[in-house]
Amino acid sequence: MERYNTLSSYLKEKFGSKLLKLSIDGGFSCPNRKNGKSGCKFCSENGSGEFTTKRKSITEQLNAQIKFLKDKNVDKGYIAYFQSYTNTFLPIEQLRQMYYEAINFPSVKVLSIATRADCFNEEIYNLLAELNEKIEVWIELGLQSSNEKTRNNMNIGYSTETFENCVKKLKELNIKTIFHIIFGLPNENQKDFKNTIDYVNSQKPWGIKIHSLFIQNDCELYEDYLQNKFKVLTWNEYVDALIMAIENLDKEIIIHRLTGDGDKTKLIAPLWSKDKIKTIGEVGKILKQKNSYQGINYKS
Ligand code: SF4
Repeated sequence: MERYNTLSSYLKEKFGSKLLKLSIDGGFSCPNRKNGKSGCKFCSENGSGEFTTKRKSITEQLNAQIKFLKDKNVDKGYIAYFQSYTNTFLPIEQLRQMYYEAINFPSVKVLSIATRADCFNEEIYNLLAELNEKIEVWIELGLQSSNEKTRNNMNIGYSTETFENCVKKLKELNIKTIFHIIFGLPNENQKDFKNTIDYVNSQKPWGIKIHSLFIQNDCELYEDYLQNKFKVLTWNEYVDALIMAIENLDKEIIIHRLTGDGDKTKLIAPLWSKDKIKTIGEVGKILKQKNSYQGINYKS
């Protein structure tokens, strides 16, 4: 019995098999790292895209990723994933050229785009709607926390209103949204994590990605961490947060991930975050022991 609504189940049902995710670096930057802005405090030098292969065409990158990931042995189709920085932050014609190059690559079945809620305009919405007629489009939005104070402290730089307007518009266009959240941001506790999950339910995205805060030696939070201004979560605290999240999350929301992928060569803390399988295994074990499942505590 699957105790939570996983992406792999969705893909198998929709496409008949898992799809291989191919990360793309489209040469984007981020509006939050320009004009004197220093970016989100947890952001790495690579704009949170640690697994892309830069300075090549989209087609070359996709081919390189397939070669790199060949051991995964999933060749029934691909997710073209624009991951690094803010992937709607270029002039519309460049976006159009890159997105079309990605969806025209053989066996690409999904176009997935990570971006910020304040980096859209009517032209971009229209382009996404056009693409969504041809292929499944997913838009991943960084929420991180429902607490505006935390978001301000982390320099995330957009309001709840901006976020909600973007979600509303994407829903009107029938485009699938994925919220990205982080457990363990400075000054947050289990109550804040629960508030974030409640907020996610209220917005009802199609999917969610969760990971713990991890500190790399190339992010702004590294200095604060060295100065002991906050502590990262222990493994047990993070597992508790995940159990709470699953039990309180609307069962229709698809869980894309429960752990993060930092750059292991730059990771400072928490070192337990390197072992994703152990964390996911523990969550499965606890849910089974409790005979619990996604949404058991969710009240609409
Ligand atoms: S929005 Fe993304 S790319 Fe931009 S600073 Fe924040 S984490 Fe980095």
